Amino acid sequence: AVPLVVAISTSLAAKSGILIRNRQAFEALRGIDTICFDKTGTVTEGRLAVSKTVALEDDNAMLAYAAALERDSEHSIARAVTAYADSVGVRPLRADVFKAIPGIGASAEVDGHAVMVGGPQLIARERLTIPPPLQTYSDSASTTVWVIVDRRPLGVILLDDRIRNSSADAVATLKSFGIETWMLTGDNEAVAASVADMTGIDRYRAGLLPDEKLAFVKARRAEGRRVAMVGDGVNDAPSLLGADIGIAVGAGTDIAIDSADIILTRSDLRSVVDAVRLSRRTYGKMK
Ligand code: ADP
Ligand code: MG
Repeated sequence: AVPLVVAISTSLAAKSGILIRNRQAFEALRGIDTICFDKTGTVTEGRLAVSKTVALEDDNAMLAYAAALERDSEHSIARAVTAYADSVGVRPLRADVFKAIPGIGASAEVDGHAVMVGGPQLIARERLTIPPPLQTYSDSASTTVWVIVDRRPLGVILLDDRIRNSSADAVATLKSFGIETWMLTGDNEAVAASVADMTGIDRYRAGLLPDEKLAFVKARRAEGRRVAMVGDGVNDAPSLLGADIGIAVGAGTDIAIDSADIILTRSDLRSVVDAVRLSRRTYGKMK
């Protein structure tokens, strides 16, 4: 039988938008000393918008290639690129053999050309050289998507996101509980630094692939730390599973929800604070 106090907590939790899939994990939440946040869609709203496009030759031609691939991708970046192309009247080309590259981007064949879109990791992975006029964007403070056709960078699409209003407040409260806060992101260093700074998150790692987020979480646990991972996306599934407690936020993807112990139905990091408080009240604080 479930003790009454726990049953009450579970229904209280549900009312506050906290769905508990794994009760042991909910109990363990009172004892965590480290929280790792994903960035896009977790600390930020994940509603990206294109702020600028820079093409070596033709902006619209570059967008037509990018939209051909992004149309088939479920990443929030992809939705933003597709919507932007549509808004400027660019029709996406037809893509074949589409492949998502998790945490990096996507590839496909378009009109007989090998096309890739993705962030800085794509450039590194494919050992591509960025032409001098575009080099200044390899270190941008915006989320950066490169458009590559037959291994030649055609240009770059810059996107911006917004930090959730509640993120800084939630981080401050978690820190006041003595919990160390980290942000783990696949995005570039400059964006990560700025979001960490604006929200008060203690430390961050940028440019991480999904497996590297998992490796980071495992390394902290191997040091004896008790780690919660908070994320929203496909790319967070491995680290959600690998943490002591996996917490999926908001309208996250099905994969993230399947991988999580606790689901927060409100896209608001204050729900993480509520969950920790509720765990402590239900099971007592851990020394
Ligand atoms: P985060 O860790 O911030 O949630 P992700 O791991 O989802 O970010 O993505 C990391 C990076 O991979 C993005 O910043 C982007 O550069 C690149 N990327 C991933 N998916 C796509 C896509 N569909 N189109 C373009 N770039 C992508
Ligand atoms: Mg994310």
